[in-house]
Amino acid sequence: MIFADRVLGVKPSATFKYDAAAKKPGVINLTIGRPDFDTPQVIKEAAKKALDEGRVHYTPSKGIPELRKAIAEKLEGENNITNLDRDKILVSGGGKQIIYCIIMALAGKGDVVAIPNPAWVSYEAQIKLANAEVEWLTLKPEEGFIPGEDFMNELEETNAKLLILNSPGNPTGAVIPERTIKKIMDVCVERDIFVISDEVYEKIIYEGKHYSPASEYENVITVNAFSKTYSMTGWRLGYCACADRAIIDRIDIVHQQSLSCCTSFAQYGALAAFSDEAKLAAEQMCEELKSRRDYVMKRIGEMDVVCAKPGGAFYVFPYFNGADDLELADELLEKGVGVVPGSAFGSQGRGCVRISYGSANIDLLSQAFDRIIR
Ligand code: GLU
Repeated sequence: MIFADRVLGVKPSATFKYDAAAKKPGVINLTIGRPDFDTPQVIKEAAKKALDEGRVHYTPSKGIPELRKAIAEKLEGENNITNLDRDKILVSGGGKQIIYCIIMALAGKGDVVAIPNPAWVSYEAQIKLANAEVEWLTLKPEEGFIPGEDFMNELEETNAKLLILNSPGNPTGAVIPERTIKKIMDVCVERDIFVISDEVYEKIIYEGKHYSPASEYENVITVNAFSKTYSMTGWRLGYCACADRAIIDRIDIVHQQSLSCCTSFAQYGALAAFSDEAKLAAEQMCEELKSRRDYVMKRIGEMDVVCAKPGGAFYVFPYFNGADDLELADELLEKGVGVVPGSAFGSQGRGCVRISYGSANIDLLSQAFDRIIR
């Protein structure tokens, strides 16, 4: 078979690859980014009820109207994004699928999409699949991977059409302060750059406050998902929102032509995510993750690495000066700990490894760090 050019330059997802490699007896798997909690019962019951009621058919491609209305209300009430209604919301098969649809709709041959360096593995791959070009904007370990002078200078020089922002961020857990996001947004307005704000970790935040740029800027598509907040990674449900309905309608063409619509009963389940019960479960999960983060930082302190305390998500991204991160990840796997090498997330990840504490309790983390430190 002669494959299409667009897939030849794209590697398999490193997060999935290293997760598969770590699924061996005796290995403590700190690779994949997912919480190990169950989905809140109220959400599961709502999905089961929808199944029993026979809600098993196609839904409107943008998603069931009730869910889109609830999302618009959430974005207004919690994120201060006031210019939305349900027609400006698109429910998707996870954050990943909606980012893919957005990129396919907005970027093509000759277009440049700027992303942070390091960034989640799929941004680069999706931009390449769209035949567009990737431009990396430098983040530094010693700045806690928060956009600094280099990032801003590169942004001011870029001729990118799109910028992907991700706070709290994967793979670093960095929470970008509101003032920094505003500085970035001001440059984007001036330079006519549209922003995809990936906010899937917004509720997993320990220090700092989440800020949604769409609350004050129009040139933004907000992306979010149920996956991390409610531990629903297997449900595949996310969404995007934009003040410009014409943009959402275009993205919907890609979504409709590739997926039709999201799983019907999963969407009814997700409606229950807006209940007090589900919100409480999400808060409790965040508290447990904060204890894990604190424990992990204590153990990181026993090593000779550069690692700022991450304010959110469930990752740490320590920099081992002079280390080859690919070799380090392989060696750690041999010693019984699965991690993802930092260079999979961009050249600025060289020498780092991503450790996810989303799916290991403190007992397992303790054993894992004993092995890492040894
Ligand atoms: N986003 C998670 C991660 O970075 C899940 C896997 C993936 O989709 O990449 O590990």
